[in-house]
Amino acid sequence: MRREIIPSLLEIQELMLQLKDYERRLKNLELEFENYLNENLKVINDKEEELRKIIDNFKLIRDQQKEKEDKVVIYREKLSQEEKRSLTLKNPKEVMHVEKEIENLKKQITNLEDEILNLMIQSEEIDLRKKDVSLELQKMKEEFEKKKKILENEINLVKDEIRNLSNNISEKRSKIPEQDLIEFDNLLKSKNSRAIARVINKEICEGCRLSIPKAVLEKVKKGDIVNCPNCGRILWLE
Ligand SMILES: [Zn+2]
Repeated sequence: MRREIIPSLLEIQELMLQLKDYERRLKNLELEFENYLNENLKVINDKEEELRKIIDNFKLIRDQQKEKEDKVVIYREKLSQEEKRSLTLKNPKEVMHVEKEIENLKKQITNLEDEILNLMIQSEEIDLRKKDVSLELQKMKEEFEKKKKILENEINLVKDEIRNLSNNISEKRSKIPEQDLIEFDNLLKSKNSRAIARVINKEICEGCRLSIPKAVLEKVKKGDIVNCPNCGRILWLE
């Protein structure tokens, strides 16, 4: 390996570390995205179910109301017939019977009208609740779509970054001799993605954080390609 290659390898190493970092971020974001979808779709589904029940209940109350209103119409007709009939009757017994019938019909109509009123109040309350829940649901969906878009954008940005870094790395690697790449890659694999270690504080290996023996350091200073005697990484001094 020639000494001039090492700065390029160091650059590739940095880019590869960045790439790893972005790949980790992508994994986390995708997981977060999946969890977000699952949780929120469930909440939205529950809310939709709630709204469906309210609408069903509303229809039921309306049907009951309609049924009672129809009954009132029929009873009123009957009542008017009975009232007309009562005017034609002579027999006191028959008159009494019809008057009783009229009384009874009036009572039933009053009861039905009370029930209709109650149902109207109920349906008004349900209608208000329906409006509230619809609005809530609409807001939830809007919020969901907004956050979903933000997460998707974030994921796409990270994917772009990964693509750029990968292209950059490939381009830089294409300029390194085959044999050097093999050595570099093997070291990367065995040394936790850091094949090359800078000498820091004049005598410390950046890879293992131990002092480099004087003799080794001299060789590095001379420009020889030397591996750290402790961790085996290629040492680099600017
Ligand atoms: Zn070392």
